[in-house]
This record gives sequence, structure tokens and C-alpha cells, in this order.
Amino acid sequence: MSFDVSKFMERVIAKNPAEPEFHQAVQEVISSLAPFVDANPRYQKDALLERMVEPERVVSFRVPWVDDQGQVQVNRGYRVQFNSAIGPYKGGCRFSPKVTLGTLKFLGFEQTFKNSLTGLPMGGGKGGADFDGVGKSDAEVMRFCQAFISELFRHIGPDTDVPAGDLGVGGREIGYMFGQYKKLVNRYEGVLTGKGLQFGGSLGRTEATGYGVIYFADHMLKRAGLGGIEGKTVALSGAGNVGCYLIENVNRMGGKCVTVADPFGFVYVPSGITEEHLEFLKPLWAVYRRPIKDFAEKYGFEYREGHRAWEVPCDVACPTATQNELDGEDAKRLLNNGCKAVVEGANMPSTLEAIEIFHDAGILFSPGKASNAGGVAVSGMEMSQNSERYSWTKEEVIGKLQQVMFNIHETCVEYGKKPDGTVNYVNGANIGGFVKVAEAMIAQGIV
Ligand code: GLU
Repeated sequence: MSFDVSKFMERVIAKNPAEPEFHQAVQEVISSLAPFVDANPRYQKDALLERMVEPERVVSFRVPWVDDQGQVQVNRGYRVQFNSAIGPYKGGCRFSPKVTLGTLKFLGFEQTFKNSLTGLPMGGGKGGADFDGVGKSDAEVMRFCQAFISELFRHIGPDTDVPAGDLGVGGREIGYMFGQYKKLVNRYEGVLTGKGLQFGGSLGRTEATGYGVIYFADHMLKRAGLGGIEGKTVALSGAGNVGCYLIENVNRMGGKCVTVADPFGFVYVPSGITEEHLEFLKPLWAVYRRPIKDFAEKYGFEYREGHRAWEVPCDVACPTATQNELDGEDAKRLLNNGCKAVVEGANMPSTLEAIEIFHDAGILFSPGKASNAGGVAVSGMEMSQNSERYSWTKEEVIGKLQQVMFNIHETCVEYGKKPDGTVNYVNGANIGGFVKVAEAMIAQGIV
């Protein structure tokens, strides 16, 4: 009997009401999988797909902390331990007032496939809290992180669940969480990734996500006969960690990036963002918490307030901000401006409508679970280094990252190749990520 996507989605929506992002993530994966599981009925047995869309465990907890005025604040923390078939749960923590359980379920679900694609032994998980770090003092951020870990520590561990950063969680927050974890368990272990280099972090972790997106883009463009990143004009929608290192790698590979952005607007630099500009941009948010407008003012560049970067001419577009930041209208604008490839550098940044528009137009499109996997891949390498109590050189790490991105691209081609020779990277990533997890689940029985 052929697999019925609508019936399946009806059940998912009924069981997980008011979680539209989770529905969207499941819809995208299940639509890719339907023809594949029709051709391979073993994957429809024993409610395998039903089990895959149900997190193994969800923890939700109170995070009380005291602000600088002596007032008690109460946030809600979560950890979604989605799937541990191929390794310990692994995935970042997001701190943002927009965080809901539904957001973290979508992210944990995506992470399961992304981590599988890296080829490393990592399951899928995601966590976070509805905490807004903007405008908080350093001491407040520290007290919050300590309170968050004071509950979470009992649910994580280097062989159980290894959180990391995500939006709103960078090196500073990871440091505070690691310190509190170590104090509580009295063990020095690799429980978090993205740590400082002095206490178990991996060289190359900071660069990994942004570099990885561009290594992947280069493979896509070359395979399609479009000549790689060299000479290409790239537009992107961030200026944080992913954005800055993405620009650095584009420059290294002979292309140019013409935009940087934050939630309030974007800066247009038609001549391309240089190394000198990057020196200014790297600490702009990470250290000084300043808006992107400062960059425009410092160098006299055009700042388009309230606009998104998708309105400028470019060959390659890299959404690097957040979910659903690129919609159908943006997609049409990009096509009208000559865009040839959209390579996602965030989790689910394109809406389903936008993806359909790209596919219909026949341009290259890569989902974040493939092209954005470089960060978690190097997190996996950080885990390996922590286990062997040894540090690899940056060249070693970046070399392995390049290999991982190459392998992910090959997997997408293997599972997403169409009869006309072109590749549907959405299908390729979803099916390629699925097979390994599915095989492990089948082998491990109904658990
Ligand atoms: N938050 C990143 C992601 O979405 C990194 C996760 C990690 O390093 O574990 O993949």
C-alpha cells in the first residue's frame, strides 16, 4: 500500500497542536521519504516513521534567577532528546524569547537528520530557554546559565547528551554552563561543545559552520557546471558567527559577499566585504552587542532599514539567520535578480513555498541539514578530541571538515539524483540522513 503523506500529517498535527514549525519540518521530510519508503517497504514496518517523529524524551523545567536589581526572574528551559539511534543526543541550545517547545522539537527533529548526514556517531537533540540575553549584564547572563545547568546537568553527559550553542548561546554562555556542570558533577568531561580552546574546545569550531556552507556550495556549483564559488557574488542574511566565517571562506575561494544583515535591516556593499571589514564585524555582535547599522556608519555603506538582503543581485544566496526568514516573495525577488543557487546556512530558513519556487525554477537549492552541518560536524570532532584527551591541529580539523562536507554532498547526489541528472538536494539530504537512523532503529528493535 502506498504511503499516505496527508494522513500521516493529519495525525502529526492532531498529536502536536500549535507547533507549526514542527509540522513544517516533518512535512518536508515525510514528503521526501514517501516515494522512498514505497519502494522500500521495510521502512514502513513497526511504525518506524511514527516513532521517528516522536521525541524519545522531552524535559521542561523552571529556571529561576536573580537579576541585577535583586528581582527574581523565572524562565522556562527545555531539552528535547529526539533520537539516540546512532549516538548520544547532540545539538545546540537556543536562548531567545521566541523559543517554544514547538521550535525546539522542529530543531531536534532536523538535527537528527543533519547529524546522521555528517557520518559521525551523533543522535539528535536540541534545547534552550525563552531567555532574552539582549540588554542583560554579564553577571545576569552568568547567573542565568548557572540556573539553567543546575537542572539540566542531571539529563546530560558526554555519553548521554552533549549540548552546544545556537542562537543566543555563544562561547561566553558555553563557558558559564561548563563551569557550573563541572562544579555540580565534580568531573572534567566533554559534556558541551563549542568550549574555549583553554578548556577542551576544538580549533576550527568557530569557523566550521560558515566555512562548511561554502565548501558545500562550491561542490554544488561545480557539479552543475557553474564553476564553483570563484568569481561568484554572494548575498547573506547574517553577520554573526556563521555569517562572518562564511564571508571569510568566500573571500579565500575567490568570490565576494555583498551583504550583511541583522533583524533590523541589511548593509549593501557592492564591491564586496573585505578582511578589514571582517575584523570590524566579527566582534560587533559577539563582543559589543551592537547592531549592523554601526558597520554601515563606520564605512559609509548603504543601510536598508527594515529590508532583507534578498533584494540585491547575486549568484548565490545564503540565508544564515533563522527559520522561515526567506519566503515566497523573497524567492521570486532572488530569481528576478539572477540568483543561481540558494545554500542554506541556518535551520529551515526557507519556507516550503520558497523551496517550491526554487525547485520549479530549476535553480540549485540546498537545505540546511546538508549545507549547514559543518558546525555540528566539528562539534563531533571536539567530542572525539575530549575523549582521547588530545587536541588536533587546525589543519587536521579543517581537512576533516572538508571531507565531511564532500561526503554529505555525495550522499545528497546518491539519494537525490533525478533521471535528468540534476539533484534534488532536499530529497537527497532527507533520504540520506534517514537511512542510517532507520537501519539503526530497525536493528535495535522496538525501544
Ligand atoms: N546549533 C548548531 C546546529 O544547529 C550546532 C550544534 C552543535 O554543535 O551541537 O547544528
